[in-house]
Amino acid sequence: MTGTLYLCATPIGNLEDVTLRVLRVLREVDLIVAEDTRHTEKLLRHYGIEPKFGPSLYEGAERERVPLILRELRAGRNVALVSDAGTPLISDPGFLLVRTCVEAGIRVVPVPGPAAFLAALVASGLPVESFLFLGALPRKRGPKLEALEGLIGEERTAVMYESPHRLWETLEMMEELYPERPLVLARELTKVHEEFIRGTVQEVRGEVRRRGTIKGEAVLVLGGDKGTREPPDAELLRDFYELLLGKRRDHKEALREMARLLGIPKGRLARILGAGLGN
Ligand code: SAM
Repeated sequence: MTGTLYLCATPIGNLEDVTLRVLRVLREVDLIVAEDTRHTEKLLRHYGIEPKFGPSLYEGAERERVPLILRELRAGRNVALVSDAGTPLISDPGFLLVRTCVEAGIRVVPVPGPAAFLAALVASGLPVESFLFLGALPRKRGPKLEALEGLIGEERTAVMYESPHRLWETLEMMEELYPERPLVLARELTKVHEEFIRGTVQEVRGEVRRRGTIKGEAVLVLGGDKGTREPPDAELLRDFYELLLGKRRDHKEALREMARLLGIPKGRLARILGAGLGN
């Protein structure tokens, strides 16, 4: 019989945030597949669990490691996947492994627990009935700006991960795009210095500027765009587009400016303007 793959969530800071089931599974499995064995070994020692590591699964190693892990599962061994923090696969390695197991008919069992995006969202004070999770924002400026522009006109609360040294640049971009939208910067979740900085994008950026630096891991929770529900008039939009194009002389620039000013996503504008643009 083949083994089972368990997806085990581990703490994102506070070591008390681990479920009894995760501890039992980590004790009982034949192999633990970690993102970084040094990191997970400390965690296991803390709970008095023997580290029985299999091949580790770090970013960039999935293609090479998945066949090795699959071999263990096929040989009947039970395997637990853990990442450095929180839930595996959530902005962490593991997707290829899970997909391969599902395709191979190997049982995949989630053992849920902490995830930073959920902790930040539920304590943000922003609507939670329906939300968008963007994962980690792209590192490069261009793709990041595109991702943030994609939130223009987005009515749902959006949650994203950002590293402390790119946070300032992200806040600058957000202020340029939507200064008045509500924003919550949740940092050091579950740790001693846990903090929520709340306000408009402009206010949160002002607070970060006042402090000089923001240390520690952070989640950004952006309130939905509320001012865009009326279906826009295509004729008026076309006139406005022509006006901006005259000033900017660049189709993309004009569209971007229009999206920013009207709070309508670029893609939607392009669709409405499609005929007029000759697309
Ligand atoms: N798998 C993790 C999860 O379930 O949340 C996410 C891993 S991802 C590589 C790391 C990012 O998660 C950090 O850059 C930060 O944005 C967020 N994060 C993780 N722990 C956090 C914490 N204690 N407080 C705030 N953000 C955290």
